[in-house]
Amino acid sequence: MFQNEQQVNNKTEDQKVTIDKNIDFWLWFLWILQEARIVDTNYSVKGSYVWLDWGYKLFKKIYAFAQEAYIQSGHNQMQFPTLIKESTFLKETDFIRNFENDVFWVDREGSKKLAKGERLALRPTSELIIYPMFARWIRSWRDMPLKVFQNVSIFRCETNETRPLIRNRETIGFIEGHSAFRSKKEALAFLKTIGKTYAILFEKLGIPVKFIEVPKWDRFAGSSKTIDGYVILPGSKSMELFTTAYLGITFSKIFNIEYLDQHKKKQFAHLLCYGPSIDRILATIIAYYGDNKGLVLLPDISPTDMIIIPIFNRKNKSTILQYSSEIMKQLISFGFKVEIDDNELTTPGMKFYQSERLGIPLRIEIGQKEFANNNITITRRDTLQKETLNWQSQSTQAQILKIQKDMDDSMRKNAQLTYQESIVDFSEKENLELLLENTKLNQNKMYLISWCGSESCAEAIEQQTKFTILGYDLQLKHKEKKKCLNCSSFGFVSVLSKRY
Ligand SMILES: [Zn+2]
Repeated sequence: MFQNEQQVNNKTEDQKVTIDKNIDFWLWFLWILQEARIVDTNYSVKGSYVWLDWGYKLFKKIYAFAQEAYIQSGHNQMQFPTLIKESTFLKETDFIRNFENDVFWVDREGSKKLAKGERLALRPTSELIIYPMFARWIRSWRDMPLKVFQNVSIFRCETNETRPLIRNRETIGFIEGHSAFRSKKEALAFLKTIGKTYAILFEKLGIPVKFIEVPKWDRFAGSSKTIDGYVILPGSKSMELFTTAYLGITFSKIFNIEYLDQHKKKQFAHLLCYGPSIDRILATIIAYYGDNKGLVLLPDISPTDMIIIPIFNRKNKSTILQYSSEIMKQLISFGFKVEIDDNELTTPGMKFYQSERLGIPLRIEIGQKEFANNNITITRRDTLQKETLNWQSQSTQAQILKIQKDMDDSMRKNAQLTYQESIVDFSEKENLELLLENTKLNQNKMYLISWCGSESCAEAIEQQTKFTILGYDLQLKHKEKKKCLNCSSFGFVSVLSKRY
């Protein structure tokens, strides 16, 4: 059990206790996972979680955005198996080196023990499953580009402390893309397209991302160019949100992904692989937008737009419920996704509390006062600002749309500010020792520094700061070069941070 899980269980028994996001991010994060019904972390297998109703609805919403992005960029959706034969695994030495401590192995078929080479691995990622199939499908230059994606569970036997949604042993929402091209030029051009596709996707999801070209020792196994997307969780550390990698012809040589070009000459295909996980996307959304009352969701992301809470007593119950149901029908006819909480066993206060924990963007209260005046009272989840709207008015629909838009704009603006505040620019500093003498580094920040790219300078900087160099900041690569923080060579703007 994660060390804070018991604390969360104890704390939530007394709901008056506030768990403060700014004081203990992890306690708060675990509290939200439980209170907003995202996942239940109390499953007997370490690093595996049960997705609960609200969490799974959010999962499907995020998945729909990602699926659309893949299809729009020319991918076909497929579904590949989970198991990999050990003999396939042994073909790629780089891969083995990178994943050997992470793999779960099946070493029995029923009661029969499997011989060496016959054992089966649960996929930690799908290159070894998909590329032997590419070799069957790609014969001629006409068969490319070939672009596929799938959404699968991946299994990694994390040796580090597991963290729900962030460091799992089973990640259920891995949306991986794989593509094959006739040349390096075509492959690298598509790597850029994927970068743009992800940039648009994460903008839609309201997540500010840093695109980083990672150093060679951190690249994806077998890759000669890897660009990762990093986020910084407010109040916490940096986290890799997705990776995109140019694999060159490494895997094509191993699995014989060969084709005849236009001059009937044999060539190897150039491969790309890339993907984010829905688990980490959701963790980022929770971290960026949640507050001490619970989840806060952008109107586009929320599985429902609003919840109606009728407030009645024994005397006016049928009138209020009748009025609420009419309002609900009209709201649905306007195109809104609406839910109603008319449970008689809970009080309106408990219902407000519940809708706030789930982060439902708008709450509509309908009581005697609203009924008598033909009104509704509407509350925004982000600011908890209340407004009374007259239902007679023809402009009710437009007024609600405006509240939604204002909420969306202000939430996104605040997220951008939070992101900007988490970045500290030290890229003009030239001396690491002087810097550390005058500055105490904060583990909730990303530091921009100038770094020459050498492994020895990275080691020196990392050793002295206890932070990690994530790589070059691609958005700032055009900036004038400054002296490296550790040597006299010139460097590119790079990102130094604590990371998960
Ligand atoms: Zn240097």
